[in-house]
Amino acid sequence: MIDVIVVGGGPAGVSAAIYLKRFKLDVTIIMKDYGTLGTTDHIENYYGFPEPISGKELFNNGIKQAKRFEIPVLTEEVLSIDYFDTFTVKTNKGSYESKIVLLATGASRATLRVKGFSEYTGKGISFCAVCDGFLYRGKKIGVIGNGDFMLEELEVLENFSQDITVFTNNMPLEKPLEHVKVVDNKIIEIKGNDVVSSVLTENSETPIDVLFMAMGTPSAADFALRMGAFINKNDIVVDEQFMTNIPGLFAAGDCIGGGWLQIVKAADDGSRAAFAINKYLRKKPM
Ligand SMILES: Cc1cc2nc3c(=O)[nH]c(=O)nc-3n(C[C@H](O)[C@H](O)[C@H](O)COP(=O)(O)OP(=O)(O)OC[C@H]3O[C@@H](n4cnc5c(N)ncnc54)[C@H](O)[C@@H]3O)c2cc1C
Repeated sequence: MIDVIVVGGGPAGVSAAIYLKRFKLDVTIIMKDYGTLGTTDHIENYYGFPEPISGKELFNNGIKQAKRFEIPVLTEEVLSIDYFDTFTVKTNKGSYESKIVLLATGASRATLRVKGFSEYTGKGISFCAVCDGFLYRGKKIGVIGNGDFMLEELEVLENFSQDITVFTNNMPLEKPLEHVKVVDNKIIEIKGNDVVSSVLTENSETPIDVLFMAMGTPSAADFALRMGAFINKNDIVVDEQFMTNIPGLFAAGDCIGGGWLQIVKAADDGSRAAFAINKYLRKKPM
């Protein structure tokens, strides 16, 4: 059993992991890609760099620094996290057990920029199959996505209905699908009256009773929802010790919001979360 799994390899996750390792804890980083830092070529306000540095270079430096401390860094996509006294972190490549999870996945959460999406979010558009799937037993279920995250949600939803349509929104399916209908053209509009009632694509309209979002990579907010951790809009709610309402589930960096989404704040969050995790583990032998 690993002491702490850090989900995310950006400034919050790597800073936390380095402090945790130096507290002599057994820590593993699981991360998918460059995250937010992959989107900027020019950082010139972070301490210690007299010349501008690209986000990717800063990210690579962080990973190199973590590896110098012999912290395992796994390049895998986390698909789900289950909590039952301890945590089971399932990725596209395996499954890992830990006493603590620190979410440091950055702010992004997939949304869909089409007519009706905002209007019907919460009115038939759901972000959590585990939370809401049961409510739609035997109903017409739609799922938006094309990769492992969609497959993960589909596995849950197949317990509740045989009438499931996957909408890929013009993206290729990453793995072939059996037993479900697939609509692979572009989504134009989510339609409804009081609640969602159909998905209009470029060449079809499919009636549905509910639509689950499972596009891209699951975010901290998606994991939090499934475990019953509080979120405020898309931000994970944490206390002063960076812990959520789930014992042992911590979060840091852009995913907890705070209005000041900068590298310096993410790194600071990470270090302070590590300090709190160390205190928590030393007080609570597991
Ligand atoms: C265009 C742009 C320019 C910016 N410029 C600056 C700047 O000049 N100065 C500055 O201080 N800040 C800047 N920022 C903000 C800064 O990039 C962020 O505040 C900072 O990167 C947040 O760090 P983080 O560790 O919280 O998240 P991120 O850096 O986003 O890291 C998130 C990590 O989580 C991983 N992850 C997410 N989901 C999963 C999953 N399901 N499974 C596995 N891994 C996952 C990602 O792969 C990534 O490794 C900029 C942001 C943008 C968008």
